[in-house]
Amino acid sequence: MSTTENIVIIGGGLAGAKTAEALRDGGHAGRVTLIAAEDHLPYERPPMSKDYLAGKAAFDSAVVHPQSWYDGHDVTLRQGVRATAIDTAAHQVTLDDGTTLPYDKLVLATGSTVRKLPLDGADADNVHYLRTVEDADAIRAAFGPGRRLVIIGGGWIGLEVTAAARASDTTVTILEGAELPLLRVLGPTIAQVFADLHTAHGVEVRTGVQIAGIDTVDGHATGVRLQDGEVVPADAIVIGIGVRPVTDLAEAAGIAVDNGVLVDASLRTSDPDVYAVGDIANHDHPVLGHRVRVEHWATALNQPAAAVAALLGGSTPYTELPYFYTDQYDLGSEYIGHASSDDRVVVRGDLATREFVAFWLDEEDRILAAMNVNVWDVIDQIKPLIAEHRVVDPVLLADPAVPYDQL
Ligand code: NAP
Repeated sequence: MSTTENIVIIGGGLAGAKTAEALRDGGHAGRVTLIAAEDHLPYERPPMSKDYLAGKAAFDSAVVHPQSWYDGHDVTLRQGVRATAIDTAAHQVTLDDGTTLPYDKLVLATGSTVRKLPLDGADADNVHYLRTVEDADAIRAAFGPGRRLVIIGGGWIGLEVTAAARASDTTVTILEGAELPLLRVLGPTIAQVFADLHTAHGVEVRTGVQIAGIDTVDGHATGVRLQDGEVVPADAIVIGIGVRPVTDLAEAAGIAVDNGVLVDASLRTSDPDVYAVGDIANHDHPVLGHRVRVEHWATALNQPAAAVAALLGGSTPYTELPYFYTDQYDLGSEYIGHASSDDRVVVRGDLATREFVAFWLDEEDRILAAMNVNVWDVIDQIKPLIAEHRVVDPVLLADPAVPYDQL
């Protein structure tokens, strides 16, 4: 393609900003316009539930690039503007200010939106979801000794917000519908480690609970009502019950959508002039051998370079394995690969001291995924084991004395 083509990126999160960066790094000399609904410079979200939320990092440190980068790289950043429609035949995007933008190639990086709890009282002024920096500010304002924070949903948001809240000595109760927090992602053995971690830090972890509603007085929540009638009192409530990919624009434009926007190995959608990256991309992963849609930071960070390489005429498929990390209290952890909660788990190390690497294996003893907990510098050794679908001996795998390259 001509390097003077006009590229529009919809979505001002990490994936959108990285797409603009990859275009300029790749030598694209044409116009680049980045449409960002939030009225901020694109920023990274992990600090919003970790150090920024805990008051340990400034917002500036979460920003992907300063304004001077966009100016210096001739990237038009339109903050506080939403795309409302895509016309793939006319190659144009309509914005909520009534204007239209023509494009030669379009990159969708619209990310996710929080799932709302469809219950009475969930719109009270002290009930929060966490997605944006404003959400993080509102939640941090609810922290403090003696204040009671109730968290609905023991997923990544719920647990990371809990750890940040406990750092300010906030009293925290987690209400999780499943039998353990993170059960659906990690399975019972490793999910128990996280439940024990929070209990050890003075959190009341309540599992298998069904929420009936949120009690309010004058639009202010006073507690969470459970199905059995019990009310868990709260000064503030955080709901973290998952997200859904923002695919409405793509769907309305006739682009193929099924659990996200369907993209090929190079992140191209069913429309050859439209690409999708980040949370929304349901990617035909060449290494895993199946489709995967990943709602984590590393995907937003790394997919844009592959999409842009294809968009600029190359054919680089995206081959990075899914990866994410979490920090909670003194526990640091990374996860690589893709497994389901009922895959077999083999542990190398000690669950009780929370210093181990867990592996998820398929029925033929191939490693599907691994999670290192308070053990470092192992990801690069584990990656090839997963990528090469290596069959391993589970007994050797569990033995910390056996080097990874001898498995
Ligand atoms: P999540 O990780 O999908 O967890 C949602 C949790 O809420 C699950 O444990 C779910 O249980 C539970 N739940 C669902 N409905 C419930 C209900 N009505 N009552 C009580 N519990 C309920 O989603 P999230 O924590 O909201 O995070 C949002 C997104 O941000 C996710 O994509 C996540 O991966 C991402 N994120 C990632 C990180 C990281 O990588 N470190 C950190 C923060 C956020 P079931 O599974 O049984 O439905």
